[in-house]
Amino acid sequence: MTSDNARAGGTPVALSGMSLEELIEFARQCGLPPFRARQLHSWIYARGAGSFAEMTDLSRQIRADLAERATVPLLEMAHRQLSTDGTRKYLFRLPGGQMVESVLMSFQDRPSLTACLSSQVGCAVGCTFCATGFMGFTRNLTAAEIVDQVMAIQRDSGLRVANVVYMGQGEPLLNVEEVIRSVRTLGESVGIGQRHITVSTSGIVPGIRRLARERLQVTLALSLHAPDALTRGQIVPVSRKWGTTELMDSLKEYYQATGRRLTIEYVLLAGVTDRPEQAEMLAELVGGLHCNVNLIPYNPTRNRSGEVCYQRPSLRAQQRFAEIAARSGKTVTIRLERGTDIDAACGQLHNTYTAGA
Ligand code: SF4
Repeated sequence: MTSDNARAGGTPVALSGMSLEELIEFARQCGLPPFRARQLHSWIYARGAGSFAEMTDLSRQIRADLAERATVPLLEMAHRQLSTDGTRKYLFRLPGGQMVESVLMSFQDRPSLTACLSSQVGCAVGCTFCATGFMGFTRNLTAAEIVDQVMAIQRDSGLRVANVVYMGQGEPLLNVEEVIRSVRTLGESVGIGQRHITVSTSGIVPGIRRLARERLQVTLALSLHAPDALTRGQIVPVSRKWGTTELMDSLKEYYQATGRRLTIEYVLLAGVTDRPEQAEMLAELVGGLHCNVNLIPYNPTRNRSGEVCYQRPSLRAQQRFAEIAARSGKTVTIRLERGTDIDAACGQLHNTYTAGA
């Protein structure tokens, strides 16, 4: 993204989501000194400005020039839903017209707010329990498009996001370079430190190794979902590319490079992944990892034919699975779901309003 586009009469440059470095380059191309970029940076990130008119310490002339060349927000909010538990689900229109969803969650036991971000339009991984997987893949998001989801949520809600999870639409490690750039901008510009960020992956081994080399302090969450290769291959098709040993080795490398405890995510599908013997296998598999285990009772989603593919296990089955998995000595929790009534929970994001937006 450069301001040359705007000068050539193309699409105005969206500044929200840019790093300070990128804003300095934009200012330079506009003939403005670096301190003007720092003013823009402060207005966008510290004060959440949604227009140049709000930037009152810039002269009228500069504001008018900027308004000709650029815009502030990158994403346009197309729809917002509010859950009975306070969760907000957003549908954002991207500059190319495609849509992505983001979710803002609050938890009673935590004062801070968490934003769940998308990293791609659709997803190529095709997990068989996931609504996004049914959409197929369209394109990667840019780092600015990832960061601006946070800014757009903060502008709309008037609330400060403290934690970020890359668990919305898409596989973050199939867009790893833009994800890394966005993590850096979230820390340096938005004030969300790396230890407050979780990147979730279905197990893209080269992406895990790339992230390990970057030595960020983010939490890596692996969506394991089944302890044996056969079941895992059926519900997370991409997992067939890498063996379980290779995957576990890459997780150990991540821990060695960063010192960050991992999170193992495991979806409980009745009769498919919730059997006691699978809990025993899970306990054995994670025994050698520095990790916590997070069990996710399945949330109903419909495939392209409108069928609900799996069933949610009973509470008793969930607890029994957790008890057996805890024999690994790891902390095992059952995820408290947010936003299930508005399809904002894990695996439910699928741009419901795309057609009507
Ligand atoms: S669960 Fe994640 S990786 Fe799997 S299809 Fe859905 S968005 Fe993609």
